[in-house]
Amino acid sequence: MARAVVITGPSGVGKGTLIRSLCERLPELELAVSATTRQPRPGETDGEDYWFLSAAQFDARVRAGAFVEHADYAGARYGTLRSELESRMAAGIPVVLEIEVQGARQVRESMPAVLQVFIAPPSLDALRARLVGRGTDDPEQVEARLRTAEEELAAQDEFARVVVNDRLEDAVTELVEVVRPATGTL
Ligand code: ADP
Ligand code: 5GP
Repeated sequence: MARAVVITGPSGVGKGTLIRSLCERLPELELAVSATTRQPRPGETDGEDYWFLSAAQFDARVRAGAFVEHADYAGARYGTLRSELESRMAAGIPVVLEIEVQGARQVRESMPAVLQVFIAPPSLDALRARLVGRGTDDPEQVEARLRTAEEELAAQDEFARVVVNDRLEDAVTELVEVVRPATGTL
């Protein structure tokens, strides 16, 4: 079993929040830093939250085959760089990928042994409240993300495991138990 795990699900469902707790509970896990063409949000740092690239830089990496997967999402491009995975996987370090559904499908094709976990919200209303409450996206972005969320939620049956992020502590506990065996983390 490849020591990697994909965490997917709609924007605002709590993937980032859950992954922070997951990495505290399973400290061997490392998060792959994605590349994106979207603008950094206040407080986001290049190389920590994302590799922030121009459209031309992103394209050049696509052409060079530098991405494991990449997708267009809400008006920007996102992708997982091979360099984020290969050295860690070769060193036996389990890696978490936090990606949207189109990217998860590409990883399923190229790395079928990698566990994929879909994080679902308790309801669409709760998802909207989280996106609005996070305060990082303007109303137009919130609507774009919710429209995509409806398609993503319809695809959840494709995924090996679904964790509903209702009460945060319960979801963290469930996610740790789902991920632990797949990563070989004790
Ligand atoms: P994602 O990474 O999936 O886009 P975030 O982790 O940024 O989502 O979470 C979106 C918002 O929802 C954040 O403000 C976060 O604090 C909040 N949140 C996460 N999980 C829960 C939960 N179980 N209950 C209520 N709010 C939550
Ligand atoms: P955000 O703009 O909120 O940071 O991310 C928007 C969406 O892009 C989220 O659903 C997030 O999981 C997804 N995403 C982040 N990094 C990647 C990536 O490397 N590849 C893909 N396919 N999606 C990503």
